[in-house]
This record gives sequence, C-alpha cells and structure tokens, in this order.
Amino acid sequence: MVGRPTRCLKTIDLHDKPREECGVFGIYAPGHDLAGLTYYGLYALQHRGQESAGIAVADGSRVQLYKGMGLVSEVFSGNQLSNLKGHVAIGHVRYSTTGSSHPVNAQPLLFRYAGGMLGLAHNGNLTNVTELRSQLLNTGSVFQSSTDSEVIVNIIARFAQNNLVDGLIKSMIDVRGSYSLVIITENKLLTLRDPHGFRPLCVGALGDGYVVASESCALDTVGAMFIRDVQPGEILVIDENGLESIQVLKPRKRAHCIFEYIYFARPDSVLDGFNVYRTRQQMGRALAAEYKVEADIVIPVPDSGTAAARGFAEASGIPFEEGLMKNRYIGRTFIQPSQDMRDLGVRLKLNPVREVLDGKRVVMVDDSIVRGTTSHKIVAMLRDCGVREVHMCLSSPPITHSCYYGIDTSNEQELIAAQKTPDQIRQCINADGLHYLSLEGLLNIFGAARDNFCTACFNGNYPVEVVKPRDAGKYNLE
Ligand code: SF4
Repeated sequence: MVGRPTRCLKTIDLHDKPREECGVFGIYAPGHDLAGLTYYGLYALQHRGQESAGIAVADGSRVQLYKGMGLVSEVFSGNQLSNLKGHVAIGHVRYSTTGSSHPVNAQPLLFRYAGGMLGLAHNGNLTNVTELRSQLLNTGSVFQSSTDSEVIVNIIARFAQNNLVDGLIKSMIDVRGSYSLVIITENKLLTLRDPHGFRPLCVGALGDGYVVASESCALDTVGAMFIRDVQPGEILVIDENGLESIQVLKPRKRAHCIFEYIYFARPDSVLDGFNVYRTRQQMGRALAAEYKVEADIVIPVPDSGTAAARGFAEASGIPFEEGLMKNRYIGRTFIQPSQDMRDLGVRLKLNPVREVLDGKRVVMVDDSIVRGTTSHKIVAMLRDCGVREVHMCLSSPPITHSCYYGIDTSNEQELIAAQKTPDQIRQCINADGLHYLSLEGLLNIFGAARDNFCTACFNGNYPVEVVKPRDAGKYNLE
C-alpha cells in the first residue's frame, strides 16, 4: 500500500548542508509489536531522511507494506500500524540521492521472486548502477522506480532462484559503491554492508530477537542492547535459528563516511567505535588548537555546531554561550508562502539573542559550508545585534568535491570551496575571520583508525571508482 503524497507545495531549503541519505531499520522479534517498534526506530532515524517513510512486516506467510511521502509521523498518522502484524519487519526513511522524490521511489521496495516475497530498504548509492541497469534492461528486466535500490533487487532476484543467500553473495560481487541493506522475506531478516563500510549499520539484541539499524540511537530507542557494528562485506541472516554471520567479501580498505561524524549522525549514536558527540567535541578542540583568536564568546550554529563549539570553548578558555536560538519545530525545508518571504527563511529557523551578542567579539562554530547561501545571512544577523567581530570556524575541511556514495553535496560548480579560496569565502560571508578544520586535524581525532575513513569530498580521493556527471551522458542517466 502506498500512502497519498502529502507535500506538493513549493518548499525552500533552509540550510546549507549536505543532505543526508537514508536510514534503515530491521527487527526479528516474535511476540513483540514489530510495526510499533519499527515506527519508533524510524522516528529515531528521522534526521537521515524526511521525504518518505515505509514499513514492511512479515508473518510467516506474507509480507505487508505501507509507505508514503512525508515524515514518519505524517505517513503513519492513522491506523496503518495496527494492520501490520508479524514477527519480522523492516523500515526506511528516505532522502533521494538517486531517483526523484516520488511515491514510487519510497522504500521498502517489495517484490515477488522465484523464492517468494522479498522486501528491501537501502542506504547508500551504487556507483555502477547505470551499467547494471542497462545490462538488466537488455536481458528483459523491467523497473517500477528510478532508484538504484531496485537494480539491487533485480540482481538479487536473478541470482536467488534456489537460495536467497546465494543471490545476495553473488549480488555483492556485482554491485559497487555504498550500501547498507535490510531485507525481509516471509520468515527472515537479512542485512548486509558493502565491503568498504561506507554507510553505518549496527546490530543489537532485544530479548531473544535482534534489531539492526543505521545508527545505534535507534537501538536505544526501541530498548535493544547494542551488540556490534555489521562488518564491511558481511551478511547477517536472522531467523528462528538465531543470528548467522557470513563474511562474504574480504573487507577492503575501510572507507566509513567521515561526514557522518561531522554532521549527519545523531550525537548520541556510536558508529564503528566512535561516539558522535565526543568526536564533534574533539573537532572543536582541534579547531581551537589550529585557530588562535581573541574573542569574548563562542557560540554554535545550533544544533549541528553545538558539540564542536563546546569543544572550542573548553580548549580556548573562551566562554560558551548560546547566541542563536533554533526553532525546533521547523524542518530542513519549509513551504515558501511567497518569493518575498524567502530572505526571512533563515530567521524563521534561527533567531539571535541580542542580550548575549551585543558588543561582543564572537567565534561562531558550524559544521560545514556547502554553497555559502546561509552563512552570510547569519553573519548579517549577528552584526545587526551589535556584534563587533565574527570569526567563523568550521569543524570540517573545505568541501571541494561531490559525493557519489549516497550524500547530496551539490555538484562541484555549486560548492563554494571548489570555486573560491577561504579568504574569498570570508569576504563573501562578511566575516572577520574564517577557519576550516584541517584534514590532518580531523583525522588525528580517530587515532589509529585514521585511515579507515572516506574523505573524498575534501580531497577527491574516491575509494571506489565513480562516474562523474560529465561522463554520464553515454550511460543515459535519468
Ligand atoms: Fe562521506 Fe564525503 Fe565520502 Fe561522501 S565523499 S561518503 S560525504 S566522506
């Protein structure tokens, strides 16, 4: 079942950040209210995608699905959950990185193949999807959606005639790029992670059952106990026999997305051994070590800059203050009443506290600048409040390259750091100082694990070969 689209009005983007990818959740726990727990799990992962949400539940003989456009609370605003009964479930929240924002692209995707029903939810982005899609089309496959996830489903179905796990193993050999997947059949929950481990995925225990999720915060929310991260190249099969691990592909050089720590993931999550909040705090400390400045207060751009601003304040000895208040009831986009209202958008989201700011020299800590479309408005708001100096500090290095592994970072022409020097950017946003955390400073935070991360958006070192847009025409990209 697909819910009716709830958003058709024109919206404007209120923040200048890379866009999250998706969040996945899966649970095998007979005797529990799985639709309800999956709903809670998706709620905890809502920050990873706000365009669509869906839940599939299996009861041993069939798989039922409900999905639609909008937030989790919008899609499941009626009695949909009460109709979804069973002992295994998967869920998905989506922001489209491939495939347009359309109900048909909402996930989980549900198919019938030779072995029965198969539902799939995907976080990531395949880098050889156009090549695979062409091969499949040429051999008679048909597609309902424009997502790369449906390409994976087709490959799995093709290889899984007799044994689903065999199909998954063969699929992992064919597909390249980033994928953390949860899969449901009538009786089983399966999950797998690409051999580089781009996107996070962890598993926990709930009584005699198991829960898998993009982030550990979703395990906490449903009362599950974190067991471990799913290993790169690993498949987990969860059913009445318990949990079976199959290390399908030898893990390649790890390439966990470092931006999960800078911005995407929730601060209370632990990803591949590192707590996100503590990591951000250390980014702030590293920033303070690199950028010595005389100032009166340190303020965050809430909420993503908060932990780093605290770290900066602790390391520099400059007092931490909250100089910008965030409207917590506003999403990443909002409906644009008229063009005239566009410039007020940032004020709708952030409002300065004049009493904190007036007459001060301010260090303002944010996580990143993508296009530079909102930073100058925030600096202008501070100056309107009597701020004497604004020093903008960013807990990421300059974003100079696009991401092809499931994050929408904009194309390189739109990335301000790909087009301008830091001093030119400082002038554009009218700040007195601008400092980006160095890549070296960022990696040092992870100690011995410093080589386990993808940093391609900062240095162009792509761990998996990518097809850039200028090469894409020959593949007839959608
Ligand atoms: Fe993450 Fe950047 Fe790598 Fe994309 S290119 S996976 S955003 S670190």
